[in-house]
Amino acid sequence: MRQEVLDVGSIKVTSLSDGGVVFDPRLMFSDTPLEHWSHYYDIFPECFSGQHFLMNLGVFMMSSAGKNVIADTGFGPHGRMLGSETSAELMDDMARKGIATDDIDTVFMSHLHADHVGWNIDPATSNVPTFSNARYTVHRADWEHFTVPDEDSEFGMEPIERSVIPLDEIGVLDLMDGETELATGITAVPTPGHTPGHMALLLSSGRERALFVGDILINPMHATDTDLPFALDTDPAEAMKVRHEVLDRAEREGMTVLGSHLSPPGWGTIVRWEGRRYWRGMG
Ligand SMILES: [Zn+2]
Repeated sequence: MRQEVLDVGSIKVTSLSDGGVVFDPRLMFSDTPLEHWSHYYDIFPECFSGQHFLMNLGVFMMSSAGKNVIADTGFGPHGRMLGSETSAELMDDMARKGIATDDIDTVFMSHLHADHVGWNIDPATSNVPTFSNARYTVHRADWEHFTVPDEDSEFGMEPIERSVIPLDEIGVLDLMDGETELATGITAVPTPGHTPGHMALLLSSGRERALFVGDILINPMHATDTDLPFALDTDPAEAMKVRHEVLDRAEREGMTVLGSHLSPPGWGTIVRWEGRRYWRGMG
C-alpha cells in the first residue's frame, strides 16, 4: 500500500487528494511542443494519459503539537478545470482517512487559484465554512490581487466570489504580511511569482526539514525543465527566480519536498543524475 503519512520529526503529514485532471500540456507550457514531453513518458508514467498531463489535485494535512493545518482545499465540486472533468474527492478522501472537517484549526491557502480554494465554503451553502472550527489564511498580496476584477485572470472571478470573499464576510479570514508560524514548526514563507502572494510552508522539527512548495514545482518534469515558461505564472521572471532558489535550496539541503500537484502521496526529493536535476518521488 502507498505510504500516505510522512513524519517530519514530530510533525505528521497526511496526503489527501481532490482527484486528478487530464489536459493538454500546452495549456500550461504554451511554447513547448507536445513531443517535448515524450521522453518523460517512461520516467513518470503516473503523470501522463496518452499525450496529456494527468495532474493530481493534492492537499496535505499537517499535525503538530495538537494543531491541524490543512494546506489548500482542492478544486471542489465546481465543474470543469482546464477543460477537464473534475471528481471533487477531498471530502471522501478525508473521511476514508479518519479526518473530520471540524478537526482542522487552520486552512492555509498557498495562493488563490481556483484549484487551491475549492472546498473553503460548504458547497451546499454560499457562506458556511467547510472547516467550521478553522481560521483561514492567505498572504495579503494575493487577496489584493485576486479580489480586484481582472478580465485576463486564468480562472475568472467566480472562484474568488464563491470561495474566498465569503471568508472575509464571515470573519474567518486572516491575511499574512510575511513569514508566519501557523503551528509549532510549521511556518508560511513568501515565495512570490506564481502569484503575488504565493507562499510555501517550511516544516521543521528536531533535525528534520521539509518544504511544501505549492505550485512552484508543478510536476516532476518541472524539476528538470525548470526554465520552461509556465503560462500560469503571474510574474514569470520573479516566479522563475524563486523557483530556482527554492529547488536549489531543497537539493542542497536534501529536504523532503511536497507539492500541490505531484502524484500521490506528493512528496519526494530532488536528486542530481548526469548533471541534471530530477524529481524522485517517495512513498
Ligand atoms: Zn495549482
